[in-house]
Amino acid sequence: MQSEKESSRKPKKLPEHVLHLNGLMRRHQRRVIAVIITLLWLTILFIASLIFFPNRDYNEQITFQAGAPPSSLSGELPSPLPEIPLETEISAMPIVPAGPPVEKIKVKSGENLSSIFLRLHLSPQELAKILKLPLVKNAARRLRVGQELEFVITNNQLQELTIPISSTEDLEIKKIDLGFVANSVPHEMTITSTKFGSVTVHTSLYIDGEHAGIPMKVLVGVATIFNSAFDFTREIHPGDHVGVVYQELKDTKIGTFQPGAILSAAFTHLGKTYYAFRFVDSNGNVAYYNEKGESLRRAFNRRPITIGRISSPFNLHRLHPILGYVRPHTGTDFAAPYGTPIHATADGRIAFIGRKGGYGRVIVINHGHGITTLYGHMSRFARSEYVGIAVKINQVIGYIGMSGLASGPHVHYEYRINDQYQDPMKVILPNAAPVPSVQKAAFAELVKKEISEMDIPKTVVPTVSANSSPAPA
Ligand SMILES: [Zn+2]
Repeated sequence: MQSEKESSRKPKKLPEHVLHLNGLMRRHQRRVIAVIITLLWLTILFIASLIFFPNRDYNEQITFQAGAPPSSLSGELPSPLPEIPLETEISAMPIVPAGPPVEKIKVKSGENLSSIFLRLHLSPQELAKILKLPLVKNAARRLRVGQELEFVITNNQLQELTIPISSTEDLEIKKIDLGFVANSVPHEMTITSTKFGSVTVHTSLYIDGEHAGIPMKVLVGVATIFNSAFDFTREIHPGDHVGVVYQELKDTKIGTFQPGAILSAAFTHLGKTYYAFRFVDSNGNVAYYNEKGESLRRAFNRRPITIGRISSPFNLHRLHPILGYVRPHTGTDFAAPYGTPIHATADGRIAFIGRKGGYGRVIVINHGHGITTLYGHMSRFARSEYVGIAVKINQVIGYIGMSGLASGPHVHYEYRINDQYQDPMKVILPNAAPVPSVQKAAFAELVKKEISEMDIPKTVVPTVSANSSPAPA
């Protein structure tokens, strides 16, 4: 059929020289086919070479790079080419020497990430990829007008995107082999100076403190540091004074300043001054201590659960709700939903675990210094607990239940000193460990320096004497 058609068409339409060529081709058909086959082979070989030896010169650079970091890379990777690790090196390479061009884009009114991607000729597929990361999804939803985004784009492909997510933190999205990764990265901060704040309180620490130019973050910090000794919302007295020394930090990215750590604070209450000094021990632990080196942090929590209410207080003359006669209530009951976690109120060792009469499932923890705590009526214990095992403050030791003699789900919590029952809500809780003795000298030096910086007596004495309620000496 085909040959018939061809033969019927060609003589009519094709011009003379084409006919001539056709004739030539027919005559040299075998040679032409051979040439075409050769060309095909060459093409295949070329494509194959591209697949199996991509970017030859890159590979050379990489073996060089892998040799530079001491052991792991050059040791693990045989130089003939496992592909994946090398590619990550490639993508990281251009960043190191020159620094890729960063395009800063301000979010305009009505814009979102997809319109910005359009504006930058970036593919919506890439946007879809990064929006699959929950951090990015959140940040994209909260994009604000005027926010500055930083793009690194090569060949119309997104390499990096930085989105500010707070005044001190960025979300950094980076391309890797298999897609994108996102991490929140805090701005780099440098300590620029030490600042001093001083306020005499007339109405509230926060109101007067802000008027005196002390940042709210610092005021809250002061209240937190003295928290174990004072309730700043209730116990503060007109004429009380707060002096505080704190770091000032500079955000190296956006150039703003903000308060850093509180170095020391002095709180003068009814004429008596209480101190707090920030000290870093040799293990790198940061804590606040008074001028004698005693910790300001309590070693004990007041309550063994974080939610729930006191359903029955400590009362040594109580009429028992179930038994119906006077029987001392030797602990505090906290009612909370069945299964609520119960936390150890301090570090210690389990002295008893098991069932015990009316207590039901009960744990006793020995905290040393003659102090024990007891947690009763549990529905179950936390896993892998036995007598002698160490527990940490806040560790979950069991769960609220109503085992033993209980009218509803609650934990019966006891605090004993030398086997004497104490009211868990009123007992004076011990402090955390003091400054280690080997560092006492260094600490004393710090106290001397900080007290001179705070200059407490000069600022306090006139305001206290001016106040109508004079402080006892
Ligand atoms: Zn009880």
